Amino acid sequence: MEGQDRGCFLNGAWVPAEGDPVASHDPAKGDALVWSGRGASPAQVEAAVRSAQDAFEEWADRTPEDRAKCFDGLEGLLEIHAGRLADAMSAEMGKPLREARAEAGSLAAKVRVSALAQGRLPDLALPNAPGESRWRPLGAMAVIGPYNYPVHLLHTHVAPALLAGNTVVVKPSEVTPLTGQIYAEIMSELPLPAGVFNMLQGEGAVGAALAGHPGFRGLAFTGSWATGRKILEANLDQPHKLVALEMGGRNVAVVLNDADLHQAVHEIVLGSCLTTGQRCTATSRVVVQAGIAPRLIAALVQALEQVRPGDPLKEETLMGPLASSSAQSRYLEALGRLATTSAEPLLAPSTLPGGAFVTPSMHQCIRPDDGWRAYIEHEFFGPDIALEVVADSEEALERVRWSPYGLSMSVFTAEESVFEWFVSRAPSGIFNWNRSTNNASGLLPFGGVGRSGNFRPAGSTGALYCAHSIAVLRKAHGVFDADPRFGPLVRAACEE
Ligand code: NAD
Repeated sequence: MEGQDRGCFLNGAWVPAEGDPVASHDPAKGDALVWSGRGASPAQVEAAVRSAQDAFEEWADRTPEDRAKCFDGLEGLLEIHAGRLADAMSAEMGKPLREARAEAGSLAAKVRVSALAQGRLPDLALPNAPGESRWRPLGAMAVIGPYNYPVHLLHTHVAPALLAGNTVVVKPSEVTPLTGQIYAEIMSELPLPAGVFNMLQGEGAVGAALAGHPGFRGLAFTGSWATGRKILEANLDQPHKLVALEMGGRNVAVVLNDADLHQAVHEIVLGSCLTTGQRCTATSRVVVQAGIAPRLIAALVQALEQVRPGDPLKEETLMGPLASSSAQSRYLEALGRLATTSAEPLLAPSTLPGGAFVTPSMHQCIRPDDGWRAYIEHEFFGPDIALEVVADSEEALERVRWSPYGLSMSVFTAEESVFEWFVSRAPSGIFNWNRSTNNASGLLPFGGVGRSGNFRPAGSTGALYCAHSIAVLRKAHGVFDADPRFGPLVRAACEE
């Protein structure tokens, strides 16, 4: 498939982009060209920010019901365009078509969930407060997305932001510009006023220009910790801006002696192989108690050996390629550098010809030293598992805490009280009892701690970072209790 460049969607119209070239390639077809075009120029970044600012007041003045009405046609548009969206995702980043269809199909539900969440923002006025608390939209917001969920992770911020009364400038990943363009085409067909939704293509430089722009009052970023860190730095002098960061993960499955072996192996294999390990919630660490370790290791090796990557367009494919040949090189280079000194392979990675294919791999800790720590501190974003054997729950918790990330974790045990012990102690935003670290729910908060996020969870709580609370206090016209000290002199002044 090859897509036509439509440029930027700016102030309600498509305009040719005037910046640097951008191109996407099919990682399952030897990097065949999928889309080529240009990113936004610096002047177009300025124009997009102005457009979002100018559209803000009229949009914010509408009632939430009026704003939600603008999305009524989304379901119908998705029926028409979901196939194109899914094809584009598979072509640009190798996501198996089955997973890509599920992602495209989730967009309408996200609007419904966001509207529900918007209506449930808490009333923050305490009993007997002399006024009321309200929520106000922030203003113009930037939304910057990654490649691994190239449409869901734009929409998951766009939907709550717009429903709350904000306007947005969206930048899709440069790995998936065609997917971003189709998403903008769908949004452009909704009856949104010009300037409420804008889309700019571009590489990191366009992201950086948006991220540090003082014209925004909010920023929702999903991507790596390395980029999130730059975004924090770029905003040090803008304390007024709400910066919501959804970043990486090194998600751990703790398997205790009383775990159900079949269940644990099933959920860990799903967790590490879905989307070829390129989910922020992918299982990439296993901490296993010694009693069950030999059986778990043997079963995991045997199961993972059977998972062969293949053509994402085939229904039977379990796992596609990595997102690009450069992602494949970076992944293998990092594994070679970090998973060798203090770890030994239980299952070594290999490549397959014709695309950015890698097979699942697993490395066991032989020395829990600085070399091992460097390995488990790195987010590989591929189907590799770092496995370590521990004596008991206490040691398992200690190892879980070694990771600088804290997005999603699993505990496999028969005892709910043991699971709850981890819930109250481990650094994580999502806890799974006897289920994969993957497949989180959009009906619950979604987000992490540490290098995974900055306490601005998305999911059901996305509405919270799209608004800020204000206090409103009133007095009836002409009625006030005169202050004993200032009252007499003010009265005298007013009667003169
Ligand atoms: P990335 O950080 O390389 O890029 C993300 C986006 O940031 C891209 O659009 C890119 O152009 C832009 N960008 C690059 N430099 C920038 C800068 N200086 N300022 C502003 N924007 C800039 O991430 P990626 O490789 O596209 O995505 C994979 C990463 O995303 C992984 O770390 C993964 O864990 C993470 N992720 C997190 C979540 C979550 O919800 N926590 C979900 C999906 C992916």
